[in-house]
Amino acid sequence: MSRSMTAWLEQQAAVRERRGLVRSPLTRLGPDAAVDLASNDYLGLATDPRLAEAAREAIGRWGTGATSSRLVAGTTALHLELESELASLTGMESALVFSSGYLANLGITTALGGPGALIVADEHCHASLIDGFRLSRSRVETVPHNNLLATEHCLRTRTEPRALIAVESIYSVFGDAAPLPRLLALAEEHDAVLLVDEAHSLGVSGRGAFEGHGAVAGTDLSGHPNVVLTATLSKSLGSQGGAVLGSALLREHLVNRARSFIFDTGLAPSSAAAALAAVGIIRTEPWRAAAVHHNAASLSAGLATMQREPGIAVVPVGAPLQTAGAVLSVPMPSAAAALAASQAAHGAGVRVGCFRPPSVPDGVSRLRLTARATLTPRDIDYACATLRRILEEMP
Ligand code: PMP
Repeated sequence: MSRSMTAWLEQQAAVRERRGLVRSPLTRLGPDAAVDLASNDYLGLATDPRLAEAAREAIGRWGTGATSSRLVAGTTALHLELESELASLTGMESALVFSSGYLANLGITTALGGPGALIVADEHCHASLIDGFRLSRSRVETVPHNNLLATEHCLRTRTEPRALIAVESIYSVFGDAAPLPRLLALAEEHDAVLLVDEAHSLGVSGRGAFEGHGAVAGTDLSGHPNVVLTATLSKSLGSQGGAVLGSALLREHLVNRARSFIFDTGLAPSSAAAALAAVGIIRTEPWRAAAVHHNAASLSAGLATMQREPGIAVVPVGAPLQTAGAVLSVPMPSAAAALAASQAAHGAGVRVGCFRPPSVPDGVSRLRLTARATLTPRDIDYACATLRRILEEMP
């Protein structure tokens, strides 16, 4: 490392230290008895033996890696079957699988964006979308969260021939939902594409016959010509990878233009196989998505009880969390308080997510709890009692 670079690294580390923003990955040393309210394994499929068996079989048949880009030798029959099943699950015409959700978002934004495109982005869009906007060299207008008037204004006054509205159907840190039908009406009126990141709603959102099929399928919007979806295979589907879902024409464009597809080694066949098994389970075991909603309501009720007690600095976010998905977001007074609370919870056997800048803007540090399908009523009672005690004892 050069002297100038070392000096810069040391200065950056000192700034992080001073601001209480030092991050380090929590290492899991093996399965433990902690109540898991931190992972995105919403349906409990990451440890399902059926996914493990499917992955093992795929390794036996195809080997441990995809061996090259999808365009060279990295596409197996498993990739194509997974694409067809994902499209069918979400009600979209076709799908293209990437090796992560991050790369799927880079792929779609760069392949549809450019100097002739305006992207109207919700201020809470995930970092992978934001990075894609930047790489795409589109004009980007960031609008306040779920603000239809601001979105409409940007679309109406645009000079670019093409436009995208970028949202998440359930927001990753805040856990609330985007008003999809109204956004789609705006997209139609202004000839724009509605790009919906379903990372936190695939497997979780949708009701009745569409239990777990995602928010777009659940609101009967799938297959609409103005709608494009992205998804990750790493949360509800318990695997790794990502996908873009849209028309066959769009798929063909991505195969030819999305650099994060073309120049990346294909998704490992074992991950494709595990995700494929997960899609089957989502279809046949709708109780899992229903359990997420039930557990979200129980956790939310447990946290709402805390809110009523004097002296407690948390304000659980409102109603949409109980119905929209698995994510409950607990605002904390500071980044240091969020870190201290999450560490204390971890010490007491409850794993929670801790979100501080730069993952969230200054002033919105929070604990993120995921109401996973396989939590028991005992887990939930214990987690609520633990969090309540920790928050009560905080200075
Ligand atoms: N979009 C959203 C909203 C996410 O939360 C994430 C993962 N944190 C991604 C995309 C990226 O997905 P992956 O982890 O598969 O790269």
